Amino acid sequence: MHYNRKLFFYVVFLSVNFLFAQKIVSEEKNYVLKIQTKNKFERTQVTELGLIPEEIFEKYVRVIASAQELNKIKSHLKLPFQVESEIKIENIGIRDFPTQDDAYHDYREMVLFLENLSQQFPTRTRLHEIGQSLEGRKILALHISTEFDASQSQAKPGIVFMGGHHAREHLSIEVPLNLAHFVLYESEKNQKLMDVLKERDLWIIPMVNPDGCEYDISPAYRWWRKNRRNNEDGSFGVDLNRNYGYEWGGRGASDNTSSQIYHGASAFSEPETQTIRDFVDQHHNLKALVSYHTFSELILYPWGYTYDSVSNPLDLKAYENMAFEMSRITGYTPQQSSDLYLTSGDTTDWAYGQHGIFSFTLELSPKSLDDGGFYPGNIIDRVVQTNLQTAIFMIEMAGHPYTPPL
Ligand SMILES: [Zn+2]
Repeated sequence: MHYNRKLFFYVVFLSVNFLFAQKIVSEEKNYVLKIQTKNKFERTQVTELGLIPEEIFEKYVRVIASAQELNKIKSHLKLPFQVESEIKIENIGIRDFPTQDDAYHDYREMVLFLENLSQQFPTRTRLHEIGQSLEGRKILALHISTEFDASQSQAKPGIVFMGGHHAREHLSIEVPLNLAHFVLYESEKNQKLMDVLKERDLWIIPMVNPDGCEYDISPAYRWWRKNRRNNEDGSFGVDLNRNYGYEWGGRGASDNTSSQIYHGASAFSEPETQTIRDFVDQHHNLKALVSYHTFSELILYPWGYTYDSVSNPLDLKAYENMAFEMSRITGYTPQQSSDLYLTSGDTTDWAYGQHGIFSFTLELSPKSLDDGGFYPGNIIDRVVQTNLQTAIFMIEMAGHPYTPPL
């Protein structure tokens, strides 16, 4: 009897949950649009309607727009466009990655992965909870060093790798996670790598936006980008990569709460960006920063908020050299961020503008929506392999950013 009641409760719970989930999913109709644009100025016009050019071609961009945004475009966009397809969000009623994408780490698996790794390497790592998300999930940072006393570790040049600012960019979490795993295991047998690591202070923050990442896979892929801030007008989410405090609120970010590029109520209004700000503020030895995103295979460097180049000629040269070398290794395209379109309030503008840290946004694979876009299937190994060498190159360059590699 007891068993049956429990079962009955379980069935009712599941069906209510299922109906609720279905309702949410059916509200989220999205479309792929093709908008004709000739240059970065026209692409910035697209961002002024609160949209993101996800893919850029010579004569057009592709954007993903909700039904509401589509209506806005119809009445406000001056550029020619067409609806290419509707994105169908299939409700598969799961709370994890679908089977074919099982290799990706959800929040819980990411925590376990880092805990295991730090237990495997107790003398070479420390795992820190550096902050919490809005919904109370941990934002974790793995410290890989030979010193853990701040006065000693911060005497060495530091570098931080980050992923998961944007919820649906799951591959951006896999690369820093696998990087941590690789450098720890590989350096046990590779003296050259061990020698490099001994001279650096390395940090890995694989999931900056855990609430968004969890939401995006529950109960199906939702194409979610932002965090889970309740904007209290029926809309949710702040774009964390428009919420940083350098030239915050400028062009290429939106003050419309329902936009994908909503910049938040104020600079650093979100606990997730506050966590990164405080972390970077407290680590004066950071010389380089790599923020992984997906997709399009690009290597981007400041500025994003202006079409002007970085004004210090030595810094500009260093940026170009590092971007060129990473491009040579990966085949990704190197360019100043605003050559795509303007963006303000992103991580890299802030880290460089505020702290002078050489900062890059790496847009990982695939190249196109046609190859899977945000959900490319299990291409983790290939993308990790491509990016390990660039990451190790950057770890080295953190010590001498102005001296090009031999
Ligand atoms: Zn992104």
